[in-house]
Parts: sequence; C-alpha cells; structure tokens
Amino acid sequence: MDQVTEIRNKIDIVSLIQEYLPLKKMGRNFKANCPFHGEKTPSLVVSPERQIWHCFGCGKGGDAYTFLMEYEKMEFPEALRVLAAKAGVTLISQHFDTGLSSKKEKLYALNRLAEEFYHYLLTKHRLGKDALDYVTHKRHIQPATLETFQLGFAPAGNALVTYLMKKKGYTADNLFDAGLATRRGNLLVDFFQNRLMFPLFDQRDNIVGFSGRVMTDNEKTSKYINTRETLIYHKGMTFFGIPTAKDAMKKEGKVYLMEGEFDVISSFQEGFTNAIAVKGTAVTEDQVNLLARFVQKVVLCFDMDKPGQEAMKKSLALLEKKSFSIGVLVLTEGKDPDEAISLNKVAFIKAMKKDVPVYDYLLESMSRIYTPTEIEGKRKLGQELLPLFAAIGNEIVKEHYLAKLGDLLGTTQEALLKEIDRTKKQEIVKKMPLITKEQRPRQEILEEYLLALLLQAENPQPLVESIKETLGEYIWITPAVQKVFVALQAFLGSVHAFSAKGFASILPSELVGSFDSCFLLPLPAISDKYEEEVASVAKDLRAMTIRSKIKKVSEAIKQKEKTSTPEEMQRLQEEFTTLLSQLSQ
Ligand code: ZN
Repeated sequence: MDQVTEIRNKIDIVSLIQEYLPLKKMGRNFKANCPFHGEKTPSLVVSPERQIWHCFGCGKGGDAYTFLMEYEKMEFPEALRVLAAKAGVTLISQHFDTGLSSKKEKLYALNRLAEEFYHYLLTKHRLGKDALDYVTHKRHIQPATLETFQLGFAPAGNALVTYLMKKKGYTADNLFDAGLATRRGNLLVDFFQNRLMFPLFDQRDNIVGFSGRVMTDNEKTSKYINTRETLIYHKGMTFFGIPTAKDAMKKEGKVYLMEGEFDVISSFQEGFTNAIAVKGTAVTEDQVNLLARFVQKVVLCFDMDKPGQEAMKKSLALLEKKSFSIGVLVLTEGKDPDEAISLNKVAFIKAMKKDVPVYDYLLESMSRIYTPTEIEGKRKLGQELLPLFAAIGNEIVKEHYLAKLGDLLGTTQEALLKEIDRTKKQEIVKKMPLITKEQRPRQEILEEYLLALLLQAENPQPLVESIKETLGEYIWITPAVQKVFVALQAFLGSVHAFSAKGFASILPSELVGSFDSCFLLPLPAISDKYEEEVASVAKDLRAMTIRSKIKKVSEAIKQKEKTSTPEEMQRLQEEFTTLLSQLSQ
C-alpha cells in the first residue's frame, strides 16, 4: 500500500473536519454549513463510512486531503505532511514535492532564522540595547512577554543579509523572495532597518512575515511597515498574535480584535490572552473566515477615534455574514487598549469584562452626534444606522434594533423597512445569484431521492423488498441510478448486513460517484415515517411511468382513429382503461 492511501486510511475524516467545523449527526452522515460558499442551511455532508465529504450547494468535495487543501489553501505535499504527522506516519518519499510547496517551506525556514537573529539582537546584543530599553521602560513589556511574542530588533545596514548569506549560505534571490532584503544602489541591504520587529505567524505556527515599528515617532517614516506581499505573506490574511491567542480563543469562544501589536501585547500582560491584531484598517473576508474556525463572538477593540470607528463599521457586515455575536470595548480613558492600560488598569479590565453589544453602542454614540429630535438628525441617523441594522443576520436581533431605532426617531418600523427595501433594491441589481442550479426533471430527482432513502436506511434490506412489487414495471430514466439500484438488490441478496464500504467495493468504478452522491444526499428529518416515505416515493415513481404510458396510448388512439381496425382500436381502449385503473390503485 502506498503512503498516501495508508495515511488516508488512518485518518478519520469526521474528526478531521470536526477540528474545523461543528458537525451534526444526521442519520448515517454528518452535516455542516459549507465554509466554501455562503449558506445558512447545512449542505456539506461528511460520510464516516465512505470517508468522504461533499457539498450539495457548491459541488466541492473529496477526501481528507482535498478538504485540507481547500480549507487551508494548502498544496498537496503540505496536506500530505500535515496528515502524515496526525496519523503518526513517517514519510519515506519526498517526491510528491512540487516546486511550490518546497519554495514555501524554504521561506518559512528563512523567516525563522531572521526571527531568531532579530530576537537575539534585541535581548542579548549591544546593538539592541536602546531598543530593549524602549520596550522595557517606555512600553513596559516584561522579559517573559518578549519571549512569548519573540520580539526582535532590526539594526540599520545589512546585518541580516550578511548573516543569512555568509553564515547560512542563502542567495540574494532567496532573501528577495522572502521580502527580507532590498537593493540600495549596488548594495543589497536589509528591508527592515532600525525597527522593533514583530514576527507574524499563521495558524500553523509558520512565520509568514514581519511588521517593524520605529521607536521614535517621526513624520517622515511610517510608524509601521510590513513585509511586502510574498509567496507566503498576504496582508489581508494575517493577524498578529494567533499562536498565543489560539487556545484561549477556542476555549472561550471569544476574541478581542484590536488594531495594533502593542494593544495585543499589553492586554496579554493583563491576562487577556485571546486578543489579536488586524493588520490593516478593517477585517477582510479571509480574516473573518479564519476567525470563524476559533470563535463565535468577536469583541471589537478598535481605536476610539474616527478611523477606528469607521474600521469598526466596515467590519460589521462581514462579521454578520458568519453570524458572529459582536461586542465593542468601550474605553473611558485612553484611545486604545495599550494607552488605556497605562492610564488606568482597573478601568481597562472592567471595560474588557463588560463589552457592550455593538448595535447598542452605535445607537448610543450616534444619537450623541446627531440630534434625533431634529429632522436633519433623523435623516442622518437613518442614513448611518439603517444599512448596518439591515445587515444583521439574525431576524430577531434585527427586529429588536429596528424597533429601538424606530422609538428613537419617533417613526414606525414599517417606514424603516421601506427605507431598507429602497436602498436594497439598488444593490440587488448589481448582485448576481451565487449558484444557479440547472432545472432537472422531477422524475430524475425522485429516482435519486428514492435510492438515497434506501442507501441511508438503518437496514435497507426490508425496504428494498417492500417496494419490489410497486416498482415491478417501472421504467427508470437515470441509467446510473437504475444500475446502482439493481446492484444493491443483488448485493443485499448475497450479504447479511449492508455496509457502504463493501457495496462500493463491488460496484463498477463508473458507478461509485452516483452511489456516493446518493449515499450522502441530505435527507429531510423523517425518522419516524421512513418506511411510509419510501413507499410513497416508489408509488409516485410508478405513477409517472403509468402516466407516460397513458400519454402514449392516448396519442396512438388519436392518430389511428381513422386507419386502424376496430379490433386494434378496442385493444388500445382496453389498455387505456387498465392503465387508468392502475393509476388509482
Ligand atoms: Zn459549498
């Protein structure tokens, strides 16, 4: 057996996917909301027996490897390595390596060396003495915290370039690719110079890039710079602080989303370990998707200034799409968490423990800016708040806030809903439907449904037996479904109990796909009326065959009215009557 198969056999797909998505048991299978397309009713199905997954909404599916590749945006070799480690298998052959994934690994390794180099300079070397003074005395960061976040110092010049090329044997191209070096004239120099360094980790503890902060605020240089886009660093996909926050986020189901590195580090020192920083102004869709793996609640801790508030509003619609519960940190002193901690720790901790529901906060703060009793104030409040309230995913919550806004403005909910409708219509025109499903004949859908009912039953044997007579003269319209049905009858006749694995192994390979899609097809909750449902679907199908026969006979009667013999006509009439009576049985 090759290692790819060996690892696949050792991994249980249900527990693998469960690490990422909450799965719900449904009959023989598990269901979840599909993370690959937006949806509110689950259509991603995972089969423990077949060890596969499939989304009936967007069509994605496959095995453990394809799940990781889709979800983590991994290349195959990387997914193989991750699953091998999970399965406790040591990979012998490395020949799966495509150029791309080994390139990525090389960049991770380079970043790791750079991080160790920067960290050493900050904590142990005289070059980093001023920077160390700055972080310990001006920023009040404890030595242990420096270790936890692996902070570092990048000196001016080309210290890192020299170290990596002379001591570690990397080439100029390697350093460019990692975003660690830049050219100045003929010289190759460090990209980060004279900056305090924050390594940026992904959720798998790889260092994907850095952000560097100047230590003397100076209008000419930007306070923070980040690694430029590389093969592994993408700005909108990274947070600062994921490794330290990961466990606490999962445990508490909640994250504090902050703006800056120091906000996260200072909060961490006060015991709030589930804080991370957005790299940029507002969260992106990729970042929101990442958060959805860890938490159900997001507390927004953006700066209490205008850009911070704008970033907060921009983030709301994206967070609503994933049905997060959303709170806001309201600071009484200081404009951000870092400043608040240095001004009044007790007040900060109190505020962190009592976050305010975001829409209450918005209603409050906005009605302080605009006067709700004046007509211009009403218009402004409507303009600012209605789009935000309209985007609330939960209908009950939405209605609650619309009622509150109606009270504030002295208007009816009906007027508010009308206004939402008016603005929505303008947007809808722009949007295309996500998935356009092709129209399939009802008979085809019913055939698949019947087979799905049989295959997913606790015990298919008696059910298949019970419809044998009904389907006696039934004419299938989907050949693949018919073949699987015939094979199922034969299989049940030869074994004691149905097993998906055993059945799949006897099927011709071109039928396995049809089997799997019926075996995973989401079924309605009909557990107590299962047999009745099977019988009624079989009856419906039978009726369809009879109806098409009736159609044929009546057409024949019409056509042959003048040409046929009386005997033939009588035969057709009799056939017609028999079919009609069959239909009513
Ligand atoms: Zn999907």
